[in-house]
Amino acid sequence: MNDLAYNGLTLDRAPDRRTDPDWIAAQRATPNTRVLPFWRDHLLIGGHAPADADTVFLGLDGDTPVFAADLSTVDKPVGEPHDLRALVNTVDPAEAATLAYARGILHWSRNQQFCGACGGATDTRDGGHLRVCRDCGKLLFPRIEPAVIVLVTWQDRCLLARHHNAAPDAYSTLAGFVEVGENLETAVHREVREEAGVTLTDVQYQASQTWPFPAGLMIGYRAHAATPDIAVDGAELEEARWFTAAEVHELRATPSRTDSIEHFLISTWLHEVDCVVA
Ligand SMILES: [Zn+2]
Repeated sequence: MNDLAYNGLTLDRAPDRRTDPDWIAAQRATPNTRVLPFWRDHLLIGGHAPADADTVFLGLDGDTPVFAADLSTVDKPVGEPHDLRALVNTVDPAEAATLAYARGILHWSRNQQFCGACGGATDTRDGGHLRVCRDCGKLLFPRIEPAVIVLVTWQDRCLLARHHNAAPDAYSTLAGFVEVGENLETAVHREVREEAGVTLTDVQYQASQTWPFPAGLMIGYRAHAATPDIAVDGAELEEARWFTAAEVHELRATPSRTDSIEHFLISTWLHEVDCVVA
């Protein structure tokens, strides 16, 4: 599903050329180069990256090299910092994908200044897509954290849950990070059992979405519950219950974020249920 927000990057990442530092330097020096300035995970609108700023090569937009610059060490940068999620509906999908990619790679790079094995400082390589420890030579590649998200249904209802301290009507689908030693489907079964005490009979992949807030990859599923029994864990969730389509429509009458895969999973289900009813 490339039409999910932040998916559908159109840049040519040029992985075969970005390993050449001379080629990267030439791209950076090209007059038509585009540099996206970021500051502490925010896009700086009206901002400007100095020539010596730390940059990551994102890719080629036709003939235009596109870089992202991290100005996070500056206390008060030029420009207005903007949260990408607040901007997403004001830019075209390919631009949203570029900005998300920039945010994600800069966040990773900024947090890998030192080697996790020996504590040595790291240097950037491959246009910013690799960091190498000066002391032990360890290679650090960009990390993505996979998380599963699932819409569970029972007959004509779906399972939504409220987290502790959430607003009274803030119900959401269940989601969680994949743990070491799990595949995606195992993670879906575990999350739903742990958080809501619900056993699933089948788990079907729906779509995935890049989610660099800060480093996620969301993998979306639909699943059926074996029984309607619910037992919330009390730790993460305050409440979980079954909602009819009419109740979900009512919940969503108030404006909410539409950029997430959760929105997609619920909308798809609502559309199917509404079609059956109609
Ligand atoms: Zn090291």
